[in-house]
Amino acid sequence: MASPIPTLAHLVSEASSLYKQMFVDDTPQIAACAPGRVNLIGEHTDYNHGYVLPMALPLVTVVVGSPSIGGDTVIVTASEHADEPRRVDLSLPNEGSKLSPWAPHWANYVRGVIHHYRARPLPGFRAVVVSSVPLGGGLSSSASLEVAFYTFLQQLRPDDGDKIAKAVACQQAEHTHARVPCGIMDQFVSVLGTEGHALLIDCRSLEAIPVPLADPELVILITNSNVKHSLASSEYAVRRRQCEEAASILGKKSLRDATMKDLEGSRDKLDDVTYRRARHVIAEIHRTVKAAEALKKGAYQDFGQLMVESHNSLRDLYDVSCQELDDLVSAAMEVDGVFGSRMTGGGFGGCTVTLLKAHVIDRAIQHIQERYHGTPTFFVTTPSAGARALQLS
Ligand code: ADP
Ligand code: MG
Repeated sequence: MASPIPTLAHLVSEASSLYKQMFVDDTPQIAACAPGRVNLIGEHTDYNHGYVLPMALPLVTVVVGSPSIGGDTVIVTASEHADEPRRVDLSLPNEGSKLSPWAPHWANYVRGVIHHYRARPLPGFRAVVVSSVPLGGGLSSSASLEVAFYTFLQQLRPDDGDKIAKAVACQQAEHTHARVPCGIMDQFVSVLGTEGHALLIDCRSLEAIPVPLADPELVILITNSNVKHSLASSEYAVRRRQCEEAASILGKKSLRDATMKDLEGSRDKLDDVTYRRARHVIAEIHRTVKAAEALKKGAYQDFGQLMVESHNSLRDLYDVSCQELDDLVSAAMEVDGVFGSRMTGGGFGGCTVTLLKAHVIDRAIQHIQERYHGTPTFFVTTPSAGARALQLS
């Protein structure tokens, strides 16, 4: 069975109750939320300035809170998976609320957002965070936390409202404070995602085109392998370096500017590994644009085929898949009515995404469950809205 997705109202109520429990005699006055995301296609292309095609999820992070009377700043997370302690007390320096990273690790995402927030000064505040995005599962709980927090701060002290600058500030927060050198995709779609649409993002120009994805006969199934191999973060940095090296050997600013012809023309200058990395990225950027066109036309079969090609390329050329993800994809592809399936996110564990006919969803889940050796969890999702302020009743 698919996991139930808590409603926004439920999350807000949970956060508000925790707030009242933590800060007796106080009630939250403002609230904001931001979604996690799933990437349909375009993997490891964002930091190569290519295209990605993610959608925002109905899984969200919610922040509720109030300005604090004494000027202190306290943040509480409800997540039992966050490293302890779950409550942090920060003092915001008067001159501009710049904050350095410190322990616990989870609070660095918040510190980073405060540091990169685009208006000053910030008042002290109290805030509680709850989330339905699984932490560390490849659905970008980190970006949803950053963007939800930024959106919360916008109500305490408005900035100029520039959404792209907001996504970039949240990405910076992850770079400088969580020390994760991520691309722009996660924060971008968490800010700018729209209901009923995937978003084709050009990660070079930062322009985005919404692509309708609201056919009631279609379903997007996310399967969490519930494994995460320790290679994930170290290999991510290695891949980034290999791509930069390939671009430099090809005489390009980034692999976005390289064609397959450029690559083949310089093949003897690249070692085999660097060649395969570049080949994945160049082909994946092209596949992503083709996939968006297929989706626009309702050509789901073509879209599914491109998803499978993407998975195979991530497995064979980019070397970021793992047995569990390969098994989940193979199992999904055995079900009649499944158009395509692939690993999604950085790799080495996390989730797969599968596009299928709505009426075969139960059969697909059952089949995957029977075939997979671990304990998967399932989310049946639709493209949802990006970050927003919420009214508290
Ligand atoms: P993903 O973004 O795919 O979920 P990451 O490793 O990038 O995985 O980010 C997960 C980390 O983000 C967690 O380990 C935690 O530090 C932080 N995080 C995300 N959401 C929350 C939350 N609601 N409460 C506390 N920490 C969170
Ligand atoms: Mg993340």
